[in-house]
Amino acid sequence: MKTEVVTIDENNLDEEAIKNLKRAGRILEEGGLVAFPTETVYGLGGDARNKESSKKIYAAKGRPSDNPLIVHIYRTEDLYKVASNVPDIALKLADKFWPGPMTMILNKSDLIPLETTGGLDTVAVRMPSNKIAAAMIKEAGGFVAAPSANTSGRPSPTVAQYCIEDLDGKIEMIIDGGAVGIGLESTIIDLTSSKPMILRPGYITFEMLEEVLGKGNVDIDKTIIDANSGLHPKAPGMKYRHYAPKGDLTIVEGSLENVVKYINDNAKKCKQQGKRVGIIATSETKDLYKGDVVKNVGSRNDEEAVAKHLFQILREFDDENVDVMFSESFDRSGIGQAIMNRLLKAAGQHVEKV
Ligand code: AMP
Ligand code: MG
Repeated sequence: MKTEVVTIDENNLDEEAIKNLKRAGRILEEGGLVAFPTETVYGLGGDARNKESSKKIYAAKGRPSDNPLIVHIYRTEDLYKVASNVPDIALKLADKFWPGPMTMILNKSDLIPLETTGGLDTVAVRMPSNKIAAAMIKEAGGFVAAPSANTSGRPSPTVAQYCIEDLDGKIEMIIDGGAVGIGLESTIIDLTSSKPMILRPGYITFEMLEEVLGKGNVDIDKTIIDANSGLHPKAPGMKYRHYAPKGDLTIVEGSLENVVKYINDNAKKCKQQGKRVGIIATSETKDLYKGDVVKNVGSRNDEEAVAKHLFQILREFDDENVDVMFSESFDRSGIGQAIMNRLLKAAGQHVEKV
């Protein structure tokens, strides 16, 4: 299959852009697949109502079929079409955080086939704020199932180039809308249990959700905080390693001084063994390291920048063929919880405390 790549400027949806968005909408309505930008990461879209489209998404990504897709809508009222028994708090959260990087788990309606929800009776729903995404979903009839637009096991794409690397020749169209704003996947909150529970941390933090729902009214899936809890994550996708870098990644936790010393000592040892070493540093420390490839993920004072660059840096390290990687650790509050969740997964939970 020839994959068509079109470029659209989110801030200038001119005639040409509208024409391309209409075409994307038609491809989706006819059961084809389109990769498109959202504010979190690029998504791989298919018609959420069409089970054949969902099957194609799993095939294109090489994704296990028990890992459900998120249904993207473009207006809040459509929530009632994809979900049944919608609790009042869902609307409260939608009012506050939609359009935006929050996904809610609700009981599914008959509109959404089990192929889209990985066999579950529940459905994940999100309304993205990216204007290209919103316009495309509208053109497609309103319901676009989309996981991240990467091959399963690779970091989620934050620029169209990575969608092309993973999906060229496998899908009908890729919309290049430039670099995404957030860089980490949406926060997932399950509203089907007695107490709302965060299943995946993201840009919308525990603190922000508590502020809307009330103190003490939000739980966090224990497996996010303690990966060795022996429990199964409630979001099926969270049980997967998610992304296994080509090089072995170790996260080093401790005072910054100890961390820098540990990483430099070990980088030296690895180099003596003939290994190529990559280091994930911050603006504050990047000049203190002596690895083969040192990459600055952003300033410790700007967690949003760190979130935005993390997946890109992990991809770059794969391209640089490093054998071993070390990363500094981050505070686990606020967006830090999502950053550490993704980093720990990439490291297979390998942490050295120094
Ligand atoms: P992705 O779109 O690639 O970020 O993956 C979607 C994430 O949403 C995966 O971790 C899924 O396990 C999770 N998810 C989707 N639908 C559900 C659902 N009904 N219940 C729990 N988790 C879900
Ligand atoms: Mg994904």
